[in-house]
Amino acid sequence: MPSSEVVILGGGMVGLSIAHQILDRKISNDIILIDKEPELGLHSSGRNSGVLHAGLYYKPGSLKAKVCLDGARRLRRWVEERDLPLNPCGKVIVPQRPELDSQLEVLVERGRANGAKVELWDANQLRELIPEARTASGRALWSPNTAVVKPISVVRRLRQDLTDRGVKILYNQKRVKARPEKQQLVLSDGTHLSFGYLFNCTGLQADRIAHQFGVGDHYTLLPFKGLYWQLKASCSFQPRTNLYPVPDLNVPFLGVHFTPSADATPLVSIGPTATPAWGRESYRGFQAIEPAMAAANLGVLARQYLTNRGGFRRYVREQAFLALPPLLIRAAQELIPAVRPEHIELSQKVGIRSQLFNRQMERLEDDFLCLPGPCSTHVLNAISPAFTASFALADLILDQALPSLGQA
Ligand SMILES: Cc1cc2nc3c(=O)[nH]c(=O)nc-3n(C[C@H](O)[C@H](O)[C@H](O)COP(=O)(O)OP(=O)(O)OC[C@H]3O[C@@H](n4cnc5c(N)ncnc54)[C@H](O)[C@@H]3O)c2cc1C
Repeated sequence: MPSSEVVILGGGMVGLSIAHQILDRKISNDIILIDKEPELGLHSSGRNSGVLHAGLYYKPGSLKAKVCLDGARRLRRWVEERDLPLNPCGKVIVPQRPELDSQLEVLVERGRANGAKVELWDANQLRELIPEARTASGRALWSPNTAVVKPISVVRRLRQDLTDRGVKILYNQKRVKARPEKQQLVLSDGTHLSFGYLFNCTGLQADRIAHQFGVGDHYTLLPFKGLYWQLKASCSFQPRTNLYPVPDLNVPFLGVHFTPSADATPLVSIGPTATPAWGRESYRGFQAIEPAMAAANLGVLARQYLTNRGGFRRYVREQAFLALPPLLIRAAQELIPAVRPEHIELSQKVGIRSQLFNRQMERLEDDFLCLPGPCSTHVLNAISPAFTASFALADLILDQALPSLGQA
């Protein structure tokens, strides 16, 4: 029977980074990575905005706060060393309404507590960088260390580095079943694979795999779809930096923003929206819809709305319907009033967030969750900024797993 000291289920940025850190830290060189798809990067890690976040949003003490800054520094250095595309363009956050101005102070405080560089700017400084941008309060927050990468090139290069260093990758494993009591996986062709330790990094499917290990039974995934538009090349204004609204810190979405890509001639995307998805991998139309899951999730969302838990009604009012072009344009105009329907077109890019819902506490989880199981760790709620933070998050997961992993 084939066996491996370490098995990593899921070859997105989190799974790849765990493999990378296991090798770098010389914990093991017997690693098999298993993915259900014919190639890597087909889900969140290849479909995100590519922003290397600078650590402004996260509550000090949260896992996100612990790993974002260090992860961003390390991933940026890794990208630079390999000469992969990187746009060191920084980011500006502007209040869309005057009453949101005080949120800038919260972000400054959180950012500084997390070790991030931040500056408060006036409207003139903002206009020097983005002449068309608007701030409703006359102030803006500048984050010089935010950068943008091309996520799919990062994933592909990391995969290449790992296979060069001996990591075996099994693709097309669509029906893997876990037998935790035997420390085995049954692969799609019926082969049994024994493992010493397993990392579940399956993103949008992570709760389902965790449940097979008897882990995290009261968590379920509530997928939110992110559509992107983009500024047409013919549009006369093309922001050179990220332009974000002040976010609603009660929900884990940052609001529709402008992001210049890491291409030689940057393409500016507008998005992503955050609309409940009909299926975990339902990227287009009726493809891969899961009616039972969608119905159950609509029930959850309706309850959140009725009880207004975490100020959920504000999310519904401001973000739930931004997939409708007129509302998206209105949100974009809060940042750049000159945006008109003729300036934008729908982008090919679309992603779905692996957002976790806690059924016991009846709330959307905001932080990463890394739950221990039998000879295993289950990475749940690997939402933004898990891409940015991946190397540092991998170290944190490994530190937690090391006592059991050492005995594998
Ligand atoms: C629209 C959007 C924008 C975002 N923007 C940013 C951003 O700008 N910056 C940032 O830091 N983060 C961003 N994020 C978040 C970021 O993309 C994720 O946090 C990160 O990619 C999570 O990586 P992952 O490895 O956990 O998941 P994934 O990339 O989804 O990888 C999971 C892998 O597991 C595989 N898999 C699933 N089920 C199974 C199974 N049963 N068996 C085997 N394999 C399986 C999948 O095929 C996939 O390859 C964004 C996310 C979205 C959706």
